[in-house]
Amino acid sequence: MAVATLPMAPEEHEAEEIARKVKLVDHLLSELRDEGLPSRRLAVSFPGLQERFDPHELRLSAAGTCPRLRAARLAGLVPPEQPDEVDAGYFLRGRLAELVVRAAFARCYRRRYRRERAVAHPWGSGHADLWLPAERLLVEIKSASTDEQGTVPEGLPWPEHVAQAQAYLHFLRDGRGRRRTADAVLVYVFAGRELTWRIYPVRYRPAEGERIASELAAIARRAADGTALGMPVPAGYRRLAPPCVGYRSGGRIERCPLWEHCWGRPDAEDDGTVEAPAELAGLLLEYGLLHRQRQEAEREAKRAGELLQQKQEALALAFAGLGNPERIRSGPFTVARSERKGSARLNMDALKAAVRCGLVSEEALESFTVSTPPSTRFLVREVNAEE
Ligand code: SF4
Repeated sequence: MAVATLPMAPEEHEAEEIARKVKLVDHLLSELRDEGLPSRRLAVSFPGLQERFDPHELRLSAAGTCPRLRAARLAGLVPPEQPDEVDAGYFLRGRLAELVVRAAFARCYRRRYRRERAVAHPWGSGHADLWLPAERLLVEIKSASTDEQGTVPEGLPWPEHVAQAQAYLHFLRDGRGRRRTADAVLVYVFAGRELTWRIYPVRYRPAEGERIASELAAIARRAADGTALGMPVPAGYRRLAPPCVGYRSGGRIERCPLWEHCWGRPDAEDDGTVEAPAELAGLLLEYGLLHRQRQEAEREAKRAGELLQQKQEALALAFAGLGNPERIRSGPFTVARSERKGSARLNMDALKAAVRCGLVSEEALESFTVSTPPSTRFLVREVNAEE
């Protein structure tokens, strides 16, 4: 029996047509990504991307990364790094940040600054982003992302970037072998809704410079004499934390190529999880539910705090409209108005950053530091029903 098809309404036809076109564009982009084309194209367009992965070089930009992995790479024990999509994305974002900062310097210093200032050392080389001879200042540019609220990431400046700047400061010398400068700045440019930046000074610390130099010497020696894997796992590294594993988008976990050498074979779950025996199931369930309850309460409190903040302007106008009385009452609530004096408090984040950058010594800080004894925390991870 022939089935009659009802003619499509013009809007239906249009919707179907645009859906088909969206699918087509999505398909073309997915194909491009799956073939790794963006990273290959970027590698060609930006030679720096390839240099970043030159296995024969001990790069100063890697000064803060795992020395054991660097030694193994130099010895050819692990395959050379291949830029992937994530690297390509970071690299491109970094190049944009660099363009922004360079444009700012170009206005003031015109040709009196140097890009990609080569910094040689006995086992390879490095390139500082900008060098301003007139100011005797090294500038290293980093890019990062802010979240939707424009919040910058925590813990800036990141230790590996400070180590990189210290390495440049240590090895940048004049013809007579004298250090050119003791000052660098790390400029973080944030790709978010607005263009924002933060600048951190890095002061040369001789002890740190010497540590980096002797680490490079040890890496080069061990790579040459076949004992690269004799480099110890650095203190403080953990088997399931970066840089030993990387957490990529979509929940993908990427292990360092030497992971098994350093931490042994991963078991099935690989995170040391043990199934709770029946008699403990109740306790775990109760702990988990209380944790969930607290998280919900905290989220609720945060939301209420934001709403209260938004209402303050209207309240200020209301008080002003009534001649600024001390209190206004309505129903069960009385709202009091009080003036707060401004106050100064110690900015711990800035202080920690100053220690990392070498502006305040750790010794100077010690007499103001109170230690707490080690303790155990119990963190809860809730698995979604779909997982
Ligand atoms: S697994 Fe961790 S410690 Fe081992 S080489 Fe890789 S980064 Fe270094």
